[in-house]
Amino acid sequence: MAFTIAIDGPAAAGKGTVARQLAAHFGFAHLDTGLLYRATGRRMLAGMDAVEAARTLQPSDLKAGDLRTPEVGQAASRVAAIPEVRQALIDFQRAFASRAGGAVLDGRDIGTVICPDADVKLYVTASDDVRAARRLTELTATGHDVTYNDVLADLRLRDARDSARTAAPLKPASDAVLLDTSTLTIAQALAAAIAEVERAQQS
Ligand code: C5P
Repeated sequence: MAFTIAIDGPAAAGKGTVARQLAAHFGFAHLDTGLLYRATGRRMLAGMDAVEAARTLQPSDLKAGDLRTPEVGQAASRVAAIPEVRQALIDFQRAFASRAGGAVLDGRDIGTVICPDADVKLYVTASDDVRAARRLTELTATGHDVTYNDVLADLRLRDARDSARTAAPLKPASDAVLLDTSTLTIAQALAAAIAEVERAQQS
């Protein structure tokens, strides 16, 4: 039976961690949809037309080692504003969402556009400071030479572009449950997410 959990929110709010752990907890499949845009952005940086890059995306493109860099993140956010790019990625995401056995998708437009009928919708946020600090820790741990101010500016630029675009802008679905992780540990955020899913399963 299909059961779809849609998780959206701004960059580095903790939605990827919540999505991954939620999927593991319930034995569901997980798709980080940001990777589709990052892989498309990376191909564009390598000289390819963005729409062509999205239309011909292969599973191996999602395994490239450098998809998490700030440069690729910015490229992802630029290609993500192109309606034809988004259109090219819809079918794959919807097929993933409706697979038997349950699916968790995280991104920016999962609850609003990709899966408007999702069984559970979460909108995960955190303050700019907390998000920048978390992303700084991640990036320095993986050998990136960045400062707190670089990371904060990068997140703000990406969020502003993602929220202002016409095509599937970043915003909570009207029926999403808001989860602010600013003062929560990962375990607390996960527990709150699990409680929402269990509530939906029982209703
Ligand atoms: O989630 P992540 O930070 O990896 O996403 C990279 C970029 O991809 C985002 O800034 C956003 O522009 C785009 N994106 C999107 N829709 C999604 C997932 C990601 O527009 N569902």
